[in-house]
Amino acid sequence: MKQYTHAWLAMMAMKRLQKTQTSKKNQLVISSLLKWFMNNRDSVIKGAWYPDAVIKDMATSHVLKYKPSGGNQQVTFRKLSGTYHIFQIGKKSSLYMKPYTVEGGNLPDRCESLTHSIIDNLKMQESEEKGSPISPNDHHIATIFFMLSHYIADAHMPLHCDDRPFSSFDDIHAHIEKEWDDKVRDCYAIDLDNERFFYDKEGFPLKMKDDLLFTWIENEMSNRSFYTSYGSGNNNTWDFMSAITQYSYLTAYEMIPQQYTPENLEWDEFLNINNKYSFDDYSRFILIDAIDSIARVWFRAWRRYLEWMKG
Ligand SMILES: [Zn+2]
Repeated sequence: MKQYTHAWLAMMAMKRLQKTQTSKKNQLVISSLLKWFMNNRDSVIKGAWYPDAVIKDMATSHVLKYKPSGGNQQVTFRKLSGTYHIFQIGKKSSLYMKPYTVEGGNLPDRCESLTHSIIDNLKMQESEEKGSPISPNDHHIATIFFMLSHYIADAHMPLHCDDRPFSSFDDIHAHIEKEWDDKVRDCYAIDLDNERFFYDKEGFPLKMKDDLLFTWIENEMSNRSFYTSYGSGNNNTWDFMSAITQYSYLTAYEMIPQQYTPENLEWDEFLNINNKYSFDDYSRFILIDAIDSIARVWFRAWRRYLEWMKG
């Protein structure tokens, strides 16, 4: 995914948390997290792009590449909450519960370690005296939150979890990401000189233009149930991101069925595949699921920090 898509997804994860109806206990976590974020949101465009601009670990940490392997071995697929579109799509896929191999990448490891890093830094900040040279500041910690959102978002881009080289020939991968980024840039007000969003009166990216995709996503953001669980059997960020990448892989093969290859698929034809869903449908499902996942991982990291504070 590209720079403004990443920043927008992170901002929408904040908005998702703000709009959601949830228990009083969860609400307390959310309001303290949002209060903190609102003072540190300006670094979102830079921070959510840091992995691509500076770290440059695209070939390893932004992906987990799956490949169907044939054979009849028993395999397990993890679970996600039923609200996930990619979970619903994946469960109906002909590759569901069929063997696969992982050909490369370590995205879930990266997400797990960044989650730890956030909590560690918050604990250090809390433990150090004011003015201590080793105390991390809020902007630094917010940047790690935004970096984490980058890797989580990438896991939802099906082609990041698919070993087929759809970045070659007509580069369907880049075409898809350009579509999304162009839409964000077209519909939201961005202060390009200062690399930040202009905000609306609630403090979220200011929407200048209506678009069916964003209207649909914002509507679901407010109405979709917010589950704090990572799905039955998933206990940490690593488990959760492993589940996400599995369903992202299955979604890739629904979006581009097995008969297509990078050599024989051009962008115009891709747009006409329409295997159960159109590209517009997939865009909605992928982006809203990514927003939900970012919100959930952030929520749980912040909750762990608050629990530690309580002692
Ligand atoms: Zn990336």
